[in-house]
Amino acid sequence: MLHTVAAYDRIGEENAFAVLARATELAASGRDIINLGIGQPDFSTPGHIVEAAVKALRDGHHGYTPANGILPAREAVCRRTLATTGEQVSPDNVMIMPGGKPTMFAAITLFGEPGAEILYPDPGFPIYRSMIEFTGATPVPVPAREENGFAFSAEETLALITDRTRLLILNSPANPTGGVTPKSEIDALVAGLERFPDVAIMSDEIYDVMTYEGEAHTSLLTYPSIRDRLIVLNGWSKTWAMTGWRLGWSIWPDGLIDKVRKLAVNCWSCVNAPAQHAGIAAIDGPQDAVEEMMAAFDARRRIVVERMNMLPGVTCITPKGAFYAFPNVGATGWKAKELASALLEEAGVALIGGPDFGILGEGYIRLSFANSADNIERAADRIGAFLESKA
Ligand code: PLP
Repeated sequence: MLHTVAAYDRIGEENAFAVLARATELAASGRDIINLGIGQPDFSTPGHIVEAAVKALRDGHHGYTPANGILPAREAVCRRTLATTGEQVSPDNVMIMPGGKPTMFAAITLFGEPGAEILYPDPGFPIYRSMIEFTGATPVPVPAREENGFAFSAEETLALITDRTRLLILNSPANPTGGVTPKSEIDALVAGLERFPDVAIMSDEIYDVMTYEGEAHTSLLTYPSIRDRLIVLNGWSKTWAMTGWRLGWSIWPDGLIDKVRKLAVNCWSCVNAPAQHAGIAAIDGPQDAVEEMMAAFDARRRIVVERMNMLPGVTCITPKGAFYAFPNVGATGWKAKELASALLEEAGVALIGGPDFGILGEGYIRLSFANSADNIERAADRIGAFLESKA
């Protein structure tokens, strides 16, 4: 018998991948499936970014790079950070990572161990809790409530901090809810965090520029009082439609950056060299493709909200960021995961049940706008017909 360590039995899943696999299987068997399950833009990576990677390969960038990333890529991240947050960051504090998730892995394994508590958003990205459990630390959910537009509350968050709290994970704009936490709430949170200087913060800002109606994202980087214990997760996956490139970045304080660099040396050595060159082109090149994508998401967002609110037993607040809606399906009488599964199997609409994002996700489903307006309309028709047929 093989003796694997118990921590591996505690690793969870991201059910969006299982739903994608099932949707693909059903489609391959000839079913017409509309996929509103997947959290990746349905746009191609802009051509000039692809060309930069091809050129990098042609120019001979085939080898290892420094573990923290090539200097021009880290400098590009600094330029981008200055442009989006107004904050100066040194390239010495930037890690180029193989996607957004490895920053979660690094930050959570850096602070998590039995006896430690880590606060994370619920409903929230499922990997936070999964990795906290992997480390043996105690996961402490911070509620993101519908009545607050799925923003987190400073008061509620601060009340959950104990002398065992090591790390606080924040995410705005948020997956799965599209919630954007207002600056006033972040101001109050940071003011309160000054009382807890031993608590590190990981702010997942991967949807930072994906906000609507002029709603501004507030980066945690803009608060000097927490800079020495702040890790900012970001990346190329969402903004430039680059999920499959596996390219992300994070900003680390002086005291932690060398630990994550060593993790990289031990684990992935460095990020794919041509992808790093593509990342520079993404940051420095024209942003019109990003703007077009956001305009399309915005138009679809309005359709999703309008159509969901017309369904029996469904209400849907307007998401302010990211590309997800999180309708409340409590009044349909269905358990959310059962509804999601029945909609896929019987109505051909793939979406994710709220409980896949945490205990507080019960009563909700997540719809991604990564599909055309026409398909969103068709999906709404199908969900409506399904709910009425079961009423
Ligand atoms: N953080 C959040 C909030 C996400 O929604 C995602 C992806 O869905 C990630 C991080 C991971 O990004 P990546 O695909 O670059 O690992």
